Amino acid sequence: MKQYDVIIIGLGSAGLMIADRLNNNGLNVLVLERNKRAGIKLLLTGNGRCNVMSNDNAEDFINAVHNGRFLRSSYHKYNIKKFFDKHNLPLKLENRRMYPASEKAIDVVNCFKIDHIKVNYKEKVEDLIFNNEKLIGVKTQTNSYYGKNIVVCTGGKSYPKSGSDGTLHKILKKYGIKQTKIYPSEVALIFDDFIELSGVALQNVRMFHKKNERIGDLLFTHKGLSGPLAISMGEFVARFPEDKFYLDFYPELNEEQLFNKLWSDNKFLSKKLTKSFYNFMLRYFPENISKKELRKFISKIKRYELIGVKTMPLEYAFTTAGGVDLKEVNPKSCSHKRIDNLYFAGEILDLHGEIGGYNLMVAWLTGMTVADSIKEKFNK
Ligand SMILES: Cc1cc2nc3c(=O)[nH]c(=O)nc-3n(C[C@H](O)[C@H](O)[C@H](O)COP(=O)(O)OP(=O)(O)OC[C@H]3O[C@@H](n4cnc5c(N)ncnc54)[C@H](O)[C@@H]3O)c2cc1C
Repeated sequence: MKQYDVIIIGLGSAGLMIADRLNNNGLNVLVLERNKRAGIKLLLTGNGRCNVMSNDNAEDFINAVHNGRFLRSSYHKYNIKKFFDKHNLPLKLENRRMYPASEKAIDVVNCFKIDHIKVNYKEKVEDLIFNNEKLIGVKTQTNSYYGKNIVVCTGGKSYPKSGSDGTLHKILKKYGIKQTKIYPSEVALIFDDFIELSGVALQNVRMFHKKNERIGDLLFTHKGLSGPLAISMGEFVARFPEDKFYLDFYPELNEEQLFNKLWSDNKFLSKKLTKSFYNFMLRYFPENISKKELRKFISKIKRYELIGVKTMPLEYAFTTAGGVDLKEVNPKSCSHKRIDNLYFAGEILDLHGEIGGYNLMVAWLTGMTVADSIKEKFNK
């Protein structure tokens, strides 16, 4: 019975990083990937331009990632930009976001060196193999493979057509590996009121509930709300479905300031709001408006309640929130605390970030941690 030193399940972003770092290291490595090529989701990132990472300092990075503290030591240990420089992938900076200078996601996929790694494409892992509670291998539709170390980097559950359909979430559950609740993150919203405004974009809008707020650009769609603002609030809508969510279309002024401006110039808002949205809001602005009615109108502008708002389903989310419970994972190695030859990297873990390169940073940093800790194990 052949036994590999390492079996990696999934050749997406994290899998590529791990395979690259284990390439040509004298280790016998097998990768099992259900797709017929590597990094399908990576090719879709940043609209095909791939926002590889953010340029944030440690504190900003940790704050932008849910459970970011788990990554503190790996953030300080690894220099992602240097890694890509060494792999002949120059990066360029745009508003704190880094992209390949070529602006092609395919160049990111191709920069990884995995020529000494055996990759079996079109093999979907369907189970793990245990012997007397010891993890010894994996089962695909056609074969069983045995390995000293097994790495799960099969992604989340969103965009299942890219390969990440959550199979491993089910398998891990079967073996008692704890996972936190899964919900969509970085996801557009479903909301009926504004359907007639589909296609209209507004700048500098605030969305909030009692715990969180964001300010940004909003796009009305035929289903509801999208654009950076709605997408960044999506995870809170999913996480706190019982909360009330509001839009503030004029965050620059408080209610009193807006009241004074509008009382002296009832066309004041037309200077900021796009024509179609202004006309839409006019229905709440009767002619010869009284002070009381104006206050009511202002609360519509500053506190428009999104009654019944919900997120698009998980498969449409950019990222999956929730996953393998970090309480069961050692941050220094990303290995399971009980099953110490089982490793995790990327979106399968209960780590996710905002749009801005943070999710790929999660994949790169956890991937580097896993690969180096496996190498260390063999060098002892
Ligand atoms: C449209 C879109 C745009 C995005 N843009 C950005 C961006 O610009 N910047 C950013 O930071 N993040 C972005 N993200 C998020 C980012 O792509 C992911 O967080 C990241 O790719 C996760 O890496 P991963 O390796 O954990 O999972 P994935 O990249 O999803 O890889 C998982 C791999 O495992 C394989 N697999 C799954 N199950 C099995 C199985 N049972 N057997 C064998 N193989 C299996 C899959 O086929 C896949 O190849 C974007 C996401 C989407 C959907």
